[in-house]
Amino acid sequence: MIPQAPKGTDDILPPASEGWRRLLRGFEDLAVRYGYGFTMTPLFEATELFSRGVGVETEVVEKQMYTFEDKGGRSITLRPEATASVVRAYLGSGTQGVFKGYYAGPMFRYEQPQSGRRRQFYQVGVEYLAEPSPDADVEVIEVGYRLLQQAGITEVTVRLNSIGDPADRAAYREALVAFLKDRADLLSDEARSRMSSNPLRVLDSKADASVVADAPAPLDAICEAAAAHFAGVVAGLQRRGIPYEISPRLVRGLDYYNRTVFEYVSAAYTAAQEALGGGGRYDPLAEMLGGPPVAAVGLAMGVDRIVLAMPKFPPGGPDVFVAVADPARREDAIGLVAALRDAGLWSEMDLGDRSLKAQFKVAGRRGSRLVAVVGDEWSEGLVTVRRMSDGEERPVAIEEVASWATNR
Ligand code: AMP
Repeated sequence: MIPQAPKGTDDILPPASEGWRRLLRGFEDLAVRYGYGFTMTPLFEATELFSRGVGVETEVVEKQMYTFEDKGGRSITLRPEATASVVRAYLGSGTQGVFKGYYAGPMFRYEQPQSGRRRQFYQVGVEYLAEPSPDADVEVIEVGYRLLQQAGITEVTVRLNSIGDPADRAAYREALVAFLKDRADLLSDEARSRMSSNPLRVLDSKADASVVADAPAPLDAICEAAAAHFAGVVAGLQRRGIPYEISPRLVRGLDYYNRTVFEYVSAAYTAAQEALGGGGRYDPLAEMLGGPPVAAVGLAMGVDRIVLAMPKFPPGGPDVFVAVADPARREDAIGLVAALRDAGLWSEMDLGDRSLKAQFKVAGRRGSRLVAVVGDEWSEGLVTVRRMSDGEERPVAIEEVASWATNR
């Protein structure tokens, strides 16, 4: 039996991978335009990074991590997210002051797999460190919004909330636990067990939505400084024309957030009301990792989900497919393909020993725009070029094929 890909993982192959390729390229260009530099951290980390950074009582750390002991007896975890790694790298590099980085890569969480919920999934994200201004939050939110726009996803809304500073959260947590205790018999088993460990998560439990509908909201319990920051974010989004909706009960699953939290939702992706991406401010994280305080805000976008929501792209095809009419000219044809590639064109040929007719079939299947036939006219410095859309053929000078193809 042929081995299967592990449950909850995907092989992303051409031609279906074209949407992925466009999205990833578009993201890189976008991030660079906004001033974020390419950042790469390990796919695995010491487990402690996530238990300290993400929080031991979060669902991700409790239930979803791929953790194993390596041959040296160290506890290692495949990264479930990249933010903790980026902050670890920043602190370890001795960098001081503002840092803006973008990343792209696979993340690993042991989930119950379904469409858009994978065990290996792909995130792209940005982190903006050492900048406390609410305008940094606005910029980060804008990057995610533009990414979705650029991907052709319509009707995107940013769900926005503030969970305040750590002291606000502690007070809020008490109020929430009191509220939940009064209604304990109405809660799901899961909510009841989360009530003491991570009560904020009960707020986004779908099974308990009706019970928590009147729960106190984190936004109503934030301090003045956090409220002023939130007002700054809201004003910035308005100025930038980014559609948002204040969601007073939005919380996010990881422990390091404070103040701003946000998610992107779209009518183009309604599966289980899941978000296409999200993020927030995480000023406490650097200290949770043992470093000095570092203001920080970032986002992570779910590429698997964005690709599902994107309009489908036709895979495209070679600009020039080079066909060999006379096997004695094979080397000339290989040289022509190389010259066209050097000129920036997508050029291919069939490397088997197929008949000219069969080569045209391959060219058609590949979606080629033009086919250049290398045959007898080669000795006169010419090839015959056929436009595949209408079959029109004409002789073209060998050295002009590239410019001819570019302008046609
Ligand atoms: P998080 O790191 O949990 O804040 O997730 C950020 C984004 O990553 C989410 O909004 C999703 O789009 C995506 N995401 C998170 N977990 C998964 C998963 N298991 N499968 C696919 N996408 C995911």
